[in-house]
Amino acid sequence: MTLKFEQALPGRNPFDEISCILCNGTEFTSIDHASVWCDKCNASFTVEATSNDPGYTVDCDTRWAWITETEYPQLVGDFKIYCVVKNDEPPRWRIIYQHPDKKNSDSYSVKDFLKLIK
Ligand SMILES: [Zn+2]
Repeated sequence: MTLKFEQALPGRNPFDEISCILCNGTEFTSIDHASVWCDKCNASFTVEATSNDPGYTVDCDTRWAWITETEYPQLVGDFKIYCVVKNDEPPRWRIIYQHPDKKNSDSYSVKDFLKLIK
């Protein structure tokens, strides 16, 4: 079976390029080729091909992560966290969040998000 993300960028596995947003771990386990888990903190990841140019979006679900293994326990919960992996830019995690004082949700870097929720 070919993984979805092997079709998006042949020869590249996004999990060779990203580290876990919660713990900076780089060891991941995939059981059924659909979901991937961080070996250290149990965050889970799903991969989608980006719609226009070659690349992937990696979504991170932190709801079942082990809080004691994370560097950013603030990110454990029901957040929309994603990372775009493309040829021309290094992968960076972003968090979609609607601040109570703002009208719309926005996409933040980890650093800005942590500042925002303090
Ligand atoms: Zn992790």
